[in-house]
Amino acid sequence: MSSSIFDTVKDVVSDAAHVVAQKSGELIDVSKTKYAIFELKGEIRKLYNEIGKLMYQSFADGVDNDDDIKLKCGIIKAKYAKIRILESNAEDIEFKCPKCGSPNDADAEYCSSCGANMTVDVHGAVEHEEDE
Ligand SMILES: [Zn+2]
Repeated sequence: MSSSIFDTVKDVVSDAAHVVAQKSGELIDVSKTKYAIFELKGEIRKLYNEIGKLMYQSFADGVDNDDDIKLKCGIIKAKYAKIRILESNAEDIEFKCPKCGSPNDADAEYCSSCGANMTVDVHGAVEHEEDE
C-alpha cells in the first residue's frame, strides 16, 4: 500500500510544482489564486473529517485504518504545501495598483491611493469600453 500512498502524494506535489511553473510564465489572477486556496482549505477540512471517522472506526470497531489515515495525512500535508506556494505567489503579485503601483491590501477592491479598480486583471486586461 505504501506505493499508492507515495503516488497520491506525488500527484498532489507535482500539481503544486505546476503552480510554480505557472508563476514564472504568466501572472496569475489573484482572485483565482485565492479561490484555489479557499478550495484547498475546504478539501483539507474534509480530509480531517474523514480521518476522524477512520480513527473512530479503528477504536470503536477495531478496524485497522492506519494506512488510510497515513495516506490522508500525506495528502493534507501536500495540500498545505500547495497553499503555501499559492500564498507566496499571491504575495508577489498582490497587491500593487495596476495604475499607480502603490501596495494595497490583498482584499482591496480599490486602490487606497488613487482609487483605481483593483479587481481587474493586473496583467493589463483593461475593461473594454464600447462606444455607442
Ligand atoms: Zn493606485
